[in-house]
Amino acid sequence: MKIAFIGLGHMGSGMAANLEKAGHQVCAFDLDEAALERAVADGCHRAGSVTQAVGGADAVVTMLPAGRHVRSVYEDEVFAATHRGVILIDCSTIDVATAKAVHGEAASRGLAMVDAPVSGGTAAAQGGTLTFMCGGSEHAFAAARPILEAMGKAVIHAGPAGMGQAAKICNNMILGATMVATAEAFVLAEKLGLDAQTFFDISSKASGQSWSMTSYCPVPGPVPAAPSNRDYAGGFGAALMLKDLKLALEAASGAGASVPMGAQAEALYQMFVGLGGGGRDFSGIVKLLDGTWRD
Ligand code: NAD
Repeated sequence: MKIAFIGLGHMGSGMAANLEKAGHQVCAFDLDEAALERAVADGCHRAGSVTQAVGGADAVVTMLPAGRHVRSVYEDEVFAATHRGVILIDCSTIDVATAKAVHGEAASRGLAMVDAPVSGGTAAAQGGTLTFMCGGSEHAFAAARPILEAMGKAVIHAGPAGMGQAAKICNNMILGATMVATAEAFVLAEKLGLDAQTFFDISSKASGQSWSMTSYCPVPGPVPAAPSNRDYAGGFGAALMLKDLKLALEAASGAGASVPMGAQAEALYQMFVGLGGGGRDFSGIVKLLDGTWRD
């Protein structure tokens, strides 16, 4: 297939390279010249604009920072340059309202679209092991699925337009809240004189267990691959966690849902990012809670 790929940043670069490896012809565009050059080195074809990338493509994949970028790329360029029969796939994490609005514009032009945000960071993007959660019609999902399978290990249909984004922000609200709770518990355990490894051995097999504990344990030692063992470098940046929590609060406000734990997590990540922690893995919040954070 001829696939236009727009947005070749931390995530998009690996994803575009995997589409190319799977035998697709990828026509890539990014506003950033260095990102575009990386994609060309990975075998993608260079496009001079979104319009040029999209012209004649069977599918369009976007991996952009936020809702306003998605809106302008689709409404200002993609819609005018595509034809019926194309499948539009937005993998960015954006607000549910914008996702639904862009879907609506696509539908009014007879174009099939899915919102398909991902779970998994840059390593999963490069390794082709992302999880995609998709919103859109059955027909659009069926068209997007084989393309997404070339970039991920799981492709799940979450429901109609916007439900991929809904699944993503609800999941990440759990993740933010459980990380804060897990970090707090390790801080308390230490102050009570309970050894961190011993606490981990117990809680990871008891009802306090969660992904935040067993995969990204916020204290160094118990989970060797966790970012806590690398001074919180890499992993899932606290700034991205803050972005997702803000999207969750915005959606909750619009839907009239009460999310006090999500709101508390958002306030704590806001503080951590304000103190310079935005580039560290989100498990670094433990340093804010134990009072040892230094930028
Ligand atoms: P990034 O900032 O590294 O990449 C975004 C790219 O989009 C940049 O290269 C930028 O130049 C390009 N861009 C912006 N506007 C453009 C335009 N109008 N035309 C063409 N290119 C344009 O971001 P990222 O880390 O790759 O994240 C992308 C999305 O994936 C975000 O929505 C993020 O929340 C989500 N996400 C990121 C991670 C992660 O670990 N980085 C994990 C899951 C989801």
